[in-house]
Amino acid sequence: MGLHEKVLGGNTFAFFTRNPRGGKTKDIDRADIDALNKLLRNEKFGPLVAHAPYTMNLCSSKPEIREYSKRVFQEDLARIEMLPGNCLNFHPGSHTGLGTEKGIEIIADVLNETLRPDQSTTVLLETMAGKGTEIGKTFGELKAILDLVRADVQCHLGVCLDTCHIWDAGYDIVNDLDGVLNHFDEVIGIERLYAVHLNDSKNPCGSHKDRHEKIGKGCIGKEALMKVVTHPVLQGKPFILETPNDDDGYKAEIAMVKEDAPRSKEAMNSIYHRISVRKYEDKAVEKEKIMEILKAGMQAPSAGNQQPWEFYVVTDKNKIQQLSKCSSYAGCAANAPVVIVPVYKKEGVRFPGMVLEDMSIAQENMWLMTDSLGLGGVWLGIAPVPDRMENVKKVLNLPDNLEAFSLFPVGYPAESRPQQDRFDESRIHFVQ
Ligand code: FE
Ligand code: FE
Ligand code: ZN
Repeated sequence: MGLHEKVLGGNTFAFFTRNPRGGKTKDIDRADIDALNKLLRNEKFGPLVAHAPYTMNLCSSKPEIREYSKRVFQEDLARIEMLPGNCLNFHPGSHTGLGTEKGIEIIADVLNETLRPDQSTTVLLETMAGKGTEIGKTFGELKAILDLVRADVQCHLGVCLDTCHIWDAGYDIVNDLDGVLNHFDEVIGIERLYAVHLNDSKNPCGSHKDRHEKIGKGCIGKEALMKVVTHPVLQGKPFILETPNDDDGYKAEIAMVKEDAPRSKEAMNSIYHRISVRKYEDKAVEKEKIMEILKAGMQAPSAGNQQPWEFYVVTDKNKIQQLSKCSSYAGCAANAPVVIVPVYKKEGVRFPGMVLEDMSIAQENMWLMTDSLGLGGVWLGIAPVPDRMENVKKVLNLPDNLEAFSLFPVGYPAESRPQQDRFDESRIHFVQ
């Protein structure tokens, strides 16, 4: 299914963990899973957002439906755990007469029983339209569920925002998107928002209908939905289309969204996608890719444009082993196919006091390029720690005037997980 999405032009996708109308699961083939994990890493797919079946209703008034739903939820969570670091989204449920409060309690009970502190999947509650007795039609209801869940699994729990659903629920994202997102932040906290279902709606705001429409063909409209796509607070999140389309329709919609959303350009994606990768596949990195990475490094700004850098590219296995012992934090370099060592001139630069800043930017540029090439790396600090610098200097036989700045192992990633959202508004101080 990953390849299929690639053809359509996307870099994430949703899928049902089984037939969306419920039913039995197929056994999963380990080789299939390995192949898919590999494809997701190599093609730089963002976090996937699996969808639990619609037939699941954790808080039904009928005990047998509750039992069935809990079993399905637990099985599907176990299945998605085979694709580490992705999301499983579900509709909180319809209380069918039990009342909202009781429903919220039952949903939270299942989460408490099911989630594990060591799981890698993030479970997402979807915002709902408020059709019938649906729970999750207000941000407050979702927050009430989250609040009843154990502290030690909170980090594996978040929210998926469906544009059609919140519009139908009465949140006016056409006239006041900022207000709606601020409200989300106040009630739930924007850091709990992991994914967006991007849909237009066949019905007006507050209709509680839940009928999806193609982007631009419904009551929300293209302009408002593009503001969602480009909203700064939502950058780097997976956007999933659930519009009534066939493959050609999706292809056209993905192309349209990309074209109209300049912020979702490659560099921005890498800023949000980049993570520290410490495990690599046993596969060489092509020379052209190394050169791209070094080009990005040398494109960095520096004090007085002094460009204090040079780069050692180490592929000799023996040397890599020795480098991995140069700092107690560098062990992971040992299994990398290549280690780039940015070094800097001690003398002969105009602003020696600014050299470490210059090198840091070059390092970050290299790291972003590494990510955008489908590779992974990690910045292992060497300067300004004297014994680490001395160790690297010896291994590489550096001339007197050059000092090692860092070790940057690079390779095809053998691990993945979503980048954390590190935005923290309390750290911003407006002085006006
Ligand atoms: Fe859904
Ligand atoms: Fe949805
Ligand atoms: Zn829907």
